[in-house]
Amino acid sequence: MRVLYLNHVSSMGGAEHSLLELLKRVPRDEVEPVVALPEGGPLASHLRSISIEIVTASLVRLKLRLGLLRAFKTGLRILGARRKLSRFVEAREIDLLHANSVSSHFVAGPVGKSQGRPVVWHVRDLRPIPIARGMLGQTATRIIAISQAVRRSLLDQGFPEDKIVVLYNGVDTARFHPGRSGGTERGRLNVPSGSFVFGMIAQMVPWKRHDLFLAAASEIAVRYPHARFWIVGDDVFADHPDYVASLRAQSSSPALSGKVSFLGYREDIEAVIAGLEALVLPSDAEPFGRVLIEAMAMGKPVIATRAGGPPEILEEGHHGYLTNPGDRNELYQAMARMIEEPERSHNMGTAARRHVEDCFSIDRHVAATVSLYRELVEQGR
Ligand code: UDP
Repeated sequence: MRVLYLNHVSSMGGAEHSLLELLKRVPRDEVEPVVALPEGGPLASHLRSISIEIVTASLVRLKLRLGLLRAFKTGLRILGARRKLSRFVEAREIDLLHANSVSSHFVAGPVGKSQGRPVVWHVRDLRPIPIARGMLGQTATRIIAISQAVRRSLLDQGFPEDKIVVLYNGVDTARFHPGRSGGTERGRLNVPSGSFVFGMIAQMVPWKRHDLFLAAASEIAVRYPHARFWIVGDDVFADHPDYVASLRAQSSSPALSGKVSFLGYREDIEAVIAGLEALVLPSDAEPFGRVLIEAMAMGKPVIATRAGGPPEILEEGHHGYLTNPGDRNELYQAMARMIEEPERSHNMGTAARRHVEDCFSIDRHVAATVSLYRELVEQGR
């Protein structure tokens, strides 16, 4: 079957990493993928490197607040993309469309409807959708929610229950493996031997709460002088320069000076994770949190928040710790415990790896996705 995937950006966030992992493994004798993207960027390069066809379309990243002129231009671009992709779907006899985001479903939904093709809409967000909910719901044949938390949020917004399926993201357990050595990264950053490295891997956007991580870190650093802190990732859309500047200022406080490293965006994220003792993700609410399954697959214990997807991914006290969102003291306690109880932390990492193998393997994710395609394409025949 021929599947047209749509993504609204070509930069690499979690949604794009998940799409790429799926596309690397869809059985090509059964699924012929084509990906519609806006002009070139890192995602396009990754796709080319695995020989996946790309069709350029004026897909746009929808923002909550747009001025009148921007809204008008965005509307025109969406209409342009719908026209171009409708023709493409017809000419290439596409069997199914798969929209990888809310923004891309603004195009995929109407195109699928007008061409009579099933549409899978992948929802990877917890943020409420402010407009066009009726159209988005009606034009989706099936809605994939990446966690029960996302499913609940969709139900609260009135999306049809019978269309929603929960499908967790998957991770490549060979690439993210506990056997990998973290020595290179630690050496590169001159981490003294015997240090305990906490890492936060996330886009530099305020809701991820790097500020909270650094606030807890500044207390940890006083009590445990051998603790070090890595901040990995970028402000992908350059939307939050002030936030990034404030984090740099926070990290140069006397308690943290020389102990925080900003690694920027890293393609070789597994090499970075290998260098950590524990991963910290103190977000206000993660829809899922792919870095959690990546770190867990590498045998690292994790600290995340009791909100959104993480409580579905890790079991409290068994694979790591959950803290209340925004609670700096609880975060500090969890980080201190990781250091104080090394054997328990190590055992949690080992259990985390097993848990990911059982529940979050990429093979499982791919098999469930392809089986959904099969069901929908057969229904349509
Ligand atoms: N990531 C990466 N390099 C970085 C920072 C992040 O490859 O420097 C990847 C990370 O490994 C994960 C994804 O980006 O696969 C982030 O996904 P997650 O669900 O954690 O967050 P999102 O960006 O979707 O909010």
